[in-house]
Amino acid sequence: MPTHHFCKITCPHNEQHAYSCAINENPLNALCQPTNSRSKRAVGFYSKFWSPGRTITITFTQALPEAIKARVEQVIRMWEPYVNLKFEFEDGDHGDIRIALNAKFNESVMGTDALSVPSYEPTLSIATPHTSEDFNPTLLHEFGHALGLSHEHQHPSANIPWDKEKAFRYFQETQGWTLEEITYNLFDIDNSPDIYRGSYDPHSIMHYEILNDLTIGDWTVGYNTELSEQDKISISNIYPPA
Ligand SMILES: [Zn+2]
Repeated sequence: MPTHHFCKITCPHNEQHAYSCAINENPLNALCQPTNSRSKRAVGFYSKFWSPGRTITITFTQALPEAIKARVEQVIRMWEPYVNLKFEFEDGDHGDIRIALNAKFNESVMGTDALSVPSYEPTLSIATPHTSEDFNPTLLHEFGHALGLSHEHQHPSANIPWDKEKAFRYFQETQGWTLEEITYNLFDIDNSPDIYRGSYDPHSIMHYEILNDLTIGDWTVGYNTELSEQDKISISNIYPPA
């Protein structure tokens, strides 16, 4: 079975601090109420979007060849035409978003949670080697989280018929994740408001590849490698032009 860009969203160390960071950055984050309050994730829900119009600084946590830094920048800038944000790649290691390559996991914090991460830690990590054809899609996906997007396979309308027992085993064995991480990144339903999320989009870069072996019956979603049309619309709604 292939193992493409599976990723986990990193939870903040301190939820209260993360909440303050989100509200200080963009007071509208407090108003972002869930549409369905039955979900566990909906408790205390708030969005984690950057303030539209803002410049986000981006740095690397390690010394890297210029060619690799340029490649990372090129991939991240694929989001740029659809957001009212500026991405500024800087030297040094104190950017708003701090990228680590050759990491143990593909993971990122969500949006403004980056502001609550200690400045010596990365906020976005990539395990997929830059020599892999999965590198660009992985980075595009992780940067989607860095902009505050959730996983598309956790959309309330996704209705994925997971074979949970198999899925737990698969993600434990192939990714080394805990049961809690698997639940959080696969099975929990995302209840952020529809206006930001849009309708369910199996082509979203924020959707995991769903292997037929891990679902009941014949249910699968392929490996998405580019921003979908819906991705572009959703992120423009979140960061609209001034
Ligand atoms: Zn992800």
